[in-house]
Amino acid sequence: VTGVSIRREVTETSPPELRRDPVAGGWVLLAEERMLRPRAPDPPPPPSDAATCPFCPGRETRTPPEVLAYHDPPGSSCWSLRVVPNLYPALRAEGAAEPRIEGLYERRDGIGAHEVIIESPRHEQDLGDLPGPRIARVLAAVRERMLDLRRDPRIEYVLWFKNRGAAAGATLDHGHSQLIAIPIVPGSVREELERCREHFRSGNRCLFCEMIDQEQSDGRRLVAASGRHLAFAPFASRFPYETWILPRGHAPSFEAGSDDDLEDLAGLLGGVLLRLGRSLGRPAYNLVLHTTPCREPGLDYYHWHLEILPRRTPLAGFEWGSGFHINPTRPEDAARHLREDGP
Ligand SMILES: [Zn+2]
Ligand SMILES: [Zn+2]
Ligand SMILES: [Zn+2]
Repeated sequence: VTGVSIRREVTETSPPELRRDPVAGGWVLLAEERMLRPRAPDPPPPPSDAATCPFCPGRETRTPPEVLAYHDPPGSSCWSLRVVPNLYPALRAEGAAEPRIEGLYERRDGIGAHEVIIESPRHEQDLGDLPGPRIARVLAAVRERMLDLRRDPRIEYVLWFKNRGAAAGATLDHGHSQLIAIPIVPGSVREELERCREHFRSGNRCLFCEMIDQEQSDGRRLVAASGRHLAFAPFASRFPYETWILPRGHAPSFEAGSDDDLEDLAGLLGGVLLRLGRSLGRPAYNLVLHTTPCREPGLDYYHWHLEILPRRTPLAGFEWGSGFHINPTRPEDAARHLREDGP
């Protein structure tokens, strides 16, 4: 099991805990130690502060010891990518997997792991600034860590996500993404799984495979394509310039992809981030990977995908109250702009 470093000496706090909302059904992660992390600056983001950045080369001791590193050239002391446990983890390794019921309420220990992928030694380089082979290395690190984290039988899901820019929740400028291994399947993934299973059971193919066919023949929302992957603006985009990337052939689990798959994906992902940068001017964004739950591989009806969500406006009361989003940009217009802003 991957160690999760906790600075117990700072202050005495309760261990992280998951609680289920008995009305809405969703889970809340209570993680007091997260309160100790650096305060997120108000937008616009501050100038890069490489002078104090804990992710820059030479300050490796300011993060917990790495769980994975790639060196460039191989065997040299210069790293090109590091994966370290989060210094302010939302979850920890110790605890039981069993739920505890108290009348109406269900709680679980906040067990799992929380890791940071430092994508480049260069402070100012974001994922989209890296050349294709370096993006492929980041994706390979994601695959390697996912395969390792899911070996813990208590872990039900491993989520890879990226927050870029203060408006997307990033607290550090240095290019990085995160992995969270949790003992439950997140509600948003569970909802997707259930909808896809329903579609499949009523005599259809995989919902995503059908969506790919429809988007390709329609063409209005296509952004870019590579040999094995497709990028398009989803029909009901929640955010302006929201873009999804999927494998063209049916593939339930990202982590089952080959090196060739990752290389192809890296080229397309880099191109999409470049287009978003040109259209929106280095936007803040969230990126999330939706893949199958650890204990449900090889599904006929689920198809892994990346969701890229540019963040220009914060979520407000209407979104919180209604559960649906107001998007001022038609996905067809966003896709056209992104096609025009290509390499
Ligand atoms: Zn840095
Ligand atoms: Zn499919
Ligand atoms: Zn999804």
